[in-house]
Amino acid sequence: MDAGLTPVRVVGAGPVGAVCALALAQQGVPVCVLEAQPETARGDSRTLALAQGSRLILERLGVWSRLADVTPITRIHISQRGALGVTRLDAGDLNVPALGYVLSYAELAAALKQALRDADVAVEYGIAVARIGASAAAAELATADGRTLATPLAVVADGGRGDDAPQPRFERDYDQMAVVCDVQTELPHAGQAFERFTPDGPAALLPKGDRYALVWTAARADAERIAALPDTAFLTALQAHFGGRRGRFLEAGPRKTFPLKLTWTGSEAGNRVVRIGNAAQTLHPVAGQGFNIGLRDAWELAALAGDTPADALGGAAMLAAYARGRRADVVGGLGFTDFLVRTFSNDLGPLRHARGLGLLALEAFPPAKRFVARRMMFGANG
Ligand SMILES: Cc1cc2nc3c(=O)[nH]c(=O)nc-3n(C[C@H](O)[C@H](O)[C@H](O)COP(=O)(O)OP(=O)(O)OC[C@H]3O[C@@H](n4cnc5c(N)ncnc54)[C@H](O)[C@@H]3O)c2cc1C
Repeated sequence: MDAGLTPVRVVGAGPVGAVCALALAQQGVPVCVLEAQPETARGDSRTLALAQGSRLILERLGVWSRLADVTPITRIHISQRGALGVTRLDAGDLNVPALGYVLSYAELAAALKQALRDADVAVEYGIAVARIGASAAAAELATADGRTLATPLAVVADGGRGDDAPQPRFERDYDQMAVVCDVQTELPHAGQAFERFTPDGPAALLPKGDRYALVWTAARADAERIAALPDTAFLTALQAHFGGRRGRFLEAGPRKTFPLKLTWTGSEAGNRVVRIGNAAQTLHPVAGQGFNIGLRDAWELAALAGDTPADALGGAAMLAAYARGRRADVVGGLGFTDFLVRTFSNDLGPLRHARGLGLLALEAFPPAKRFVARRMMFGANG
């Protein structure tokens, strides 16, 4: 790091903050990270689906080759329960090695932590940022251990957990929760993922190691009850919900739940503070967009910072350019995801048939299928 320049400060070393810090360092921009959790903390058991575009970002940062346990998705089968219409996406048809990749949050977090160490990025672990203030000249971070740190640019990547997070500009509570766990099926996955739309919400099976990661969306009132079912009752309920495309469900790991909400806070252009990843937007997991949009936030911000002269870093012009540049991808991803959730999470007869026709049309019209697949892999710039 150049000792003469005040570093950019990244709040949060989750995947988005860590990717941003690595990319800033790669661009030659001085950067420090503050992370509330201790260095020894291991990421939790959640499963992430990375799009092809996110793989490219991790490759450019030298992180991809550090990941030992990644399962490629080579085919996706999309259907709706109790009605006609199936669409199949195949990596071969799109000339890509995979449509996406499945890995655990903990594995990605560990690889990123090591990459930060190897790149000599200063990370202060166990230091929470309690408050962020900003003036035209600098942002000031008040840390929980009583320091005030000035920076030309504060990058907030705290997952939206900060006490002084601004009110979202747009919010939709789906009244749904995701029940997640690993499951073992009778038939091997062979790289195939399933997305099944039901009136209660979508359910996905993602190939992960020799098992599947299940993301079962249910109404909030039902989700806790489903997650608490004993194993045998849970497997029976899952079989009834998902059907028999992978044979019987044989085993299920410990269940966890998390609330599903669309929030769009956006980045606050003009005051030396920018929010990225889950701090800027949260999405329903139906199309696997949220995490990947967050990685693109991190990458695009770092690229722009690298192109900005040191004295303009974090200034109104740079942050306005960032907000402008991200708008189509973020708002497009939010809209696409929201459309899927609201169109498919109901049992209205005419809509059910229209959805079936939509899936059949997609199956029969390869250019449309390629468009949808590329949007899922690369976002609005796909
Ligand atoms: C409970 C839960 C379960 C999820 N499960 C799934 C799933 O199964 N599949 C999926 O695809 N997506 C899942 N998601 C979404 C996914 O985790 C996010 O898209 C992704 O983690 C966003 O990364 P991020 O780096 O923006 O935020 P995070 O991963 O939340 O990282 C934020 C980081 O900031 C740190 N931090 C927070 N506050 C402060 C502070 N004040 N000062 C300093 N550091 C701070 C935190 O310790 C953390 O390390 C889940 C989200 C939640 C909340």
